[in-house]
Amino acid sequence: MRSHTSTLILNGNISPLCNYDKNTHVLNNTCPFDSVIVGIAVAYVDYEQYASFIDGSKNEYLNLAKDLGRHGSSKLSYTRRLILLMPYFDISTSIPSVYTLNTECNVLKVIQDYMKNDPNCTQTILCSNKNCPEKDRIRHSASIIINDLNKILEKGFSCLNMLLENYLKSERTPCIYKHCDGILKKEKKLGSHIFIETDQLSIDSSTFSCLLNQIPVNINLNNEK
Ligand SMILES: [Zn+2]
Repeated sequence: MRSHTSTLILNGNISPLCNYDKNTHVLNNTCPFDSVIVGIAVAYVDYEQYASFIDGSKNEYLNLAKDLGRHGSSKLSYTRRLILLMPYFDISTSIPSVYTLNTECNVLKVIQDYMKNDPNCTQTILCSNKNCPEKDRIRHSASIIINDLNKILEKGFSCLNMLLENYLKSERTPCIYKHCDGILKKEKKLGSHIFIETDQLSIDSSTFSCLLNQIPVNINLNNEK
């Protein structure tokens, strides 16, 4: 990402100052923003199905990724990055008309901030008792947390498909409302992209190594690729 010659978008630390709204902006530490957007840009170019999802999306982050994938970066790309970053980070100034944004964060924050309307997963929770005071609920998740992700340490990424199948299995549990004897049915449906939280994957680098080509290119879930 720090290369000047072979990158889709330059890190704020080394890209030119960004002039916007009659002010000059200095961006620091855009790596999390840039790394996720470059991943999406590559996926846009490589996967027709994902490209048609982004083509139909009004999400400005995804649209910037699309334009980077199709045309590379331009002066306008850097202004669009600034506009996308401004609502989520503190802006400081020590010189009139010069503003600094420190956009240091975890990639998870990038995903949660920009994928709110394009969730990874939608879970519906319904009670079998039609008179239950608990209303049907729908939860959207910008990223997903998989149980037993540590199995990857034992079995490698070949088990990722199986872990995702388990994640999607519907569950039935007694209703949480104390006066209801109904059964809650919880079902999950994945969106067009999957961002998996890996915090719990406690990798010991002395015993575990992983190559990018070990990550499965295709995942088959519910007869969909
Ligand atoms: Zn109930």
